[in-house]
Amino acid sequence: MKEFKTESKKLLDLMINSIYTNREIFLRELISNASDAVDKLYFQSLTNPDMNFAPDELHIQVSWDEEARTVTVSDNGIGMDEEGLDNNLGTIAHSDSMEFKNDEEKQSEDIDIIGQFGVGFYSAFMVGDLVTVITKPYGSDQAWKWTSTGVDGYTVEPTEKEGWGTDVIVHLRPDTDEEKYGEFLNEHSLKSLIRRYSNYVRYPIMMECEHSRELPKPEDAGDDYKPEYEQYTELETVNSRIPIWKRKKSEVTDEEYNEFYKTTFHDYADPLKTISFHAEGAISYDVLLFIPSRAPFDLYSKEYKKGLQLYSSNVLIMDKCEDLLFDHFNFVKGVVDSQDLTLNISRETLQQNNQLRAIAKRIDKKITQALESMRDNERDKYEEFFAAFGRTLKYGIYSSYGMKKDQLGGLMLFHSAKEGKLVTLDEYLANCPEDQENIYYATGESIERLSTLPMVKSVLNRGYDVLLCCEDVDEFCMISIDIYNEKQLRNVADADLGLETEEEKQEAEEATKSNEALFAAMQEALGDKVTKVAVSPRLVDVPAALSAEGPVSLEMEKMMAMMPDADGSVKASRVLEINAKHPVFATLQVAQEVGDTEKVSLYTSLLYNQALLMEGMPIDDPVAFSEAIAKLMK
Ligand code: ADP
Repeated sequence: MKEFKTESKKLLDLMINSIYTNREIFLRELISNASDAVDKLYFQSLTNPDMNFAPDELHIQVSWDEEARTVTVSDNGIGMDEEGLDNNLGTIAHSDSMEFKNDEEKQSEDIDIIGQFGVGFYSAFMVGDLVTVITKPYGSDQAWKWTSTGVDGYTVEPTEKEGWGTDVIVHLRPDTDEEKYGEFLNEHSLKSLIRRYSNYVRYPIMMECEHSRELPKPEDAGDDYKPEYEQYTELETVNSRIPIWKRKKSEVTDEEYNEFYKTTFHDYADPLKTISFHAEGAISYDVLLFIPSRAPFDLYSKEYKKGLQLYSSNVLIMDKCEDLLFDHFNFVKGVVDSQDLTLNISRETLQQNNQLRAIAKRIDKKITQALESMRDNERDKYEEFFAAFGRTLKYGIYSSYGMKKDQLGGLMLFHSAKEGKLVTLDEYLANCPEDQENIYYATGESIERLSTLPMVKSVLNRGYDVLLCCEDVDEFCMISIDIYNEKQLRNVADADLGLETEEEKQEAEEATKSNEALFAAMQEALGDKVTKVAVSPRLVDVPAALSAEGPVSLEMEKMMAMMPDADGSVKASRVLEINAKHPVFATLQVAQEVGDTEKVSLYTSLLYNQALLMEGMPIDDPVAFSEAIAKLMK
């Protein structure tokens, strides 16, 4: 007996004790696995001439045994060897990225877990108390039997099997007052589940179905003869197999699209948007696309592979054709089917295909249009979309060095400080006063924090809105957009924001000049921590604040410091801006006048550290900071 890997064990436990109401999806999951296994074999056969079977031999079969209380899903796909069983069924893929909730949270969260990790095979334990897998890889002589009751672990032993492929035999749990697991044990239930969830699986799903037929009328039958019937069974294909993208849009219900999406792309939740179109021209093709309602857990990891399924005349050629999707829409799922592709089955050739580029461009445009229309007509939905994938769009702008800003800039949403809600850049511009020359933004940890920052307040006080940005990519995205609709994007933390009136500027210059000695002393106290200490006309309530001169902002410095190979060499040129109208400044002036150098230096360091804290940056020497406070309070 082997034990399941820890995370798998927890998941199993969750499955078994789940309050999950949709237990019936176990069948869909097993059929999806079977279909994937058949795909894999089929793909191998394309490049391996030694494999010899007819493509129409490939199928899936669902059967049941009322007496034994079993439901079996069989396929003649790729099969597994001993090691494969261990790797695939002894542990759950990606389990290391799972965090399990404690018991109270578990009940409400379990649906999410099931959906998010596509636990596929394990869902058999929602209905079964014993699962047996009998499998033989194509071309091998040895079959293997895997059994598990779910809790303790599993066993693997050699066995016999005719032909190749996999049978998954689920022994259903006993019925209880609440749960009738036996409901699956009949033709009608299984058939309707297959049609509901797996109708478009491209391989035939076969079932022994009962029929009745009229017996021939006996020759000596009298006038009062009543026809007699006999029951017989016949192997039938249950699923429709007509690809959903080949059907007229108007004839397919939303529910059918949603089911197709969930089964094909292993998601628990309905997609947020379905896009389908047919293109005619040099190449004709059908496209069916889905925008998921949430990001898969690995979207931002290296393992994530974008791509659309590529079919040529209903035959799947490639499962994830990368060339059909640009990176900024890498989250989109879907299918492209064309009979005009000049296909050379070798994938290398396919990748260089110009026809694919043309299709990709068209798809890119359609997705953009669909998102624009969602943004304009279904705002709530769009905000949901943006919460899930906005980051990817921002990366799209950043990684194209702003070249995609015309396409993606209008899709951005940012938090408006003035309106207290998400706005597009166009909405921001529509609301701004006529004299406003720039688009202002601030970057930092949270909306709450940003809205209290002195630099943000000072811009707001002038009647200009500020976009508050809290994602790590925001700053780079803003810099890459640079100019939107002829307006320059400006970080409010720039030292030379230039919002002051001539009068204010002059006043500040005079104040700086007349306190020259004081500022020199302050600069000396801070050494190379700042490049400048100066009076700022823009501060309102606070005595001092930090800003940055030059290309590196404070936020950028913070982010660079968090990178794994940071050496602290990327530093913003800091300016300590002083509010000359604040009472604290008068205190500084007095200390300077009486020649108390120590106090000037102490106050300066307090102001500087205070400013750091407001920026959400660590203070250099917390011990010295608290000693300074203690000294002053004495
Ligand atoms: P997923 O399908 O999301 O990868 P599962 O837990 O459903 O996760 O399955 C785990 C793995 O077990 C699959 O990736 C596949 O390699 C293998 N597997 C499951 N069912 C079959 C099958 N019928 N034939 C061959 N391999 C299978």
